[in-house]
Amino acid sequence: MTPARVIPSIEELLQRPALAAASAAHGRDVVSRAAREAAAALRTRLRAGDASLPGNETDAATWLEARALEQVAAGLAASLVPVINATGVLLHTNLGRAPLAPDALARVTEVAAGYSNLEYDLDQGARGDRHAHAERLLVDLTGAEAGLVVNNNAAAALVVLASLAAGREVIVSRGELVEIGGGFRVPDILAASGAVLREVGTTNRTRASDYAAAVSERTALLLRVHPSNFQIEGFAERPTLEAIAALGRRFDLPVVEDLGSGWLGVVDPPTGLDTEPTVRGSLGAGADLVLSSGDKLLGGPQAGIIVGRRALIDRIRRHPLMRAMRADKMTYAALEATLALWAQPPSRDRIPVWGMLSLRREDIDRRAQGVAAALAAVPGLSCRVVDGASTSGGGAAPTSRLPTRLLAVRREGIDASALERRLRLGRPPVIARIEKNEVLLDLRTVSAQDDVRLAAAVTAASRPDAE
Ligand SMILES: *Cc1c(COP(=O)(O)O)cnc(C)c1O
Repeated sequence: MTPARVIPSIEELLQRPALAAASAAHGRDVVSRAAREAAAALRTRLRAGDASLPGNETDAATWLEARALEQVAAGLAASLVPVINATGVLLHTNLGRAPLAPDALARVTEVAAGYSNLEYDLDQGARGDRHAHAERLLVDLTGAEAGLVVNNNAAAALVVLASLAAGREVIVSRGELVEIGGGFRVPDILAASGAVLREVGTTNRTRASDYAAAVSERTALLLRVHPSNFQIEGFAERPTLEAIAALGRRFDLPVVEDLGSGWLGVVDPPTGLDTEPTVRGSLGAGADLVLSSGDKLLGGPQAGIIVGRRALIDRIRRHPLMRAMRADKMTYAALEATLALWAQPPSRDRIPVWGMLSLRREDIDRRAQGVAAALAAVPGLSCRVVDGASTSGGGAAPTSRLPTRLLAVRREGIDASALERRLRLGRPPVIARIEKNEVLLDLRTVSAQDDVRLAAAVTAASRPDAE
């Protein structure tokens, strides 16, 4: 008998009680697909002469049943799962940027679990405007005339350019034609908006006179982009925002600044971030519109925040692209709650990003020593607490370094990349970095409540039988 003859028919398999029950719970299609895939896998491996596989029909059916059930369960498992961010990069775009405040989560649950006045005017008892939400808080916090929320900052840039500059020229310094993490390329967004890019200056030096010389009847606006994830050092120069704003007034052109990081400027930033421009500061310097992200230094949900002149914001609001860029009710709920925390000084500590930025090296050291003590008895593991630096990431203060204390971990018998991999594949996954054949864990970006889970994850990854 050829090895594949031990494989029962799919019909027979589906009649087995466990698979029949799975069909009733999850639908016959899903279960029969899983059974067919399991049978195909078994056939391939039997043909390849894998001796560890079942050799008679009863064992084959049991094996296939278990495989099919595993597959059905895997199909239902979430792909998006929480991880422990031990990289020390606060706004890690790959790890979902800002963790939300408990207040924001509570508001999302409250609003999204039922109906809301998302587009309903409670006073008038009639259709309302979703863009009204969050505006009052944005205006109060930034001092702007008006505010508008869209899906993210890339959408904000796109809709602003499409509304104010389609078919006309936008003047940008060559030094600001940058790519920001996650494939946000200023020239591509400009092209997608229908605006025409008018580059001025050079990569390292652009002067106000370069902008002035490029202004013509085709010019729609002056765009300034915060070089948020890099810094040109040495022989570099760009005009101040005040100088560009003065040009805007002279030629009657709007000045738009894409700030990215979204530090509001209602409180002083912690040391290390003190050179970071603020939304308030940019408006004060004369920008007509300032664009920023909700999930960077603001510490809220993914969102694009546009603040500035009422007349410009009204034009943007009416653009058809707004329908495609609009934010969802969960975004408004989380954003309003986060902005309300910024507006109340004693409550700011509840914003995780603010909390992590404000952690002192001594606080982190104390926690690191605690985790190191918990790991002291793990066989084969060595763990030291050393000096290091956390970074803000996510397009803020590119050269900022926040002094921290790191756990530097080695496991006898395996190299750092194998240990890092085990941590990454654990439950919960722990994301760490490697330096000089040591795995480095920065507790600044780990919630203090997770220190125990982190220690457990490192212990599990150090077991001799850990994969
Ligand atoms: C991060 C960033 C963006 C993109 O923002 P998203 O919210 O990710 O769309 C655009 N411009 C600047 C300057 C940024 O820093």
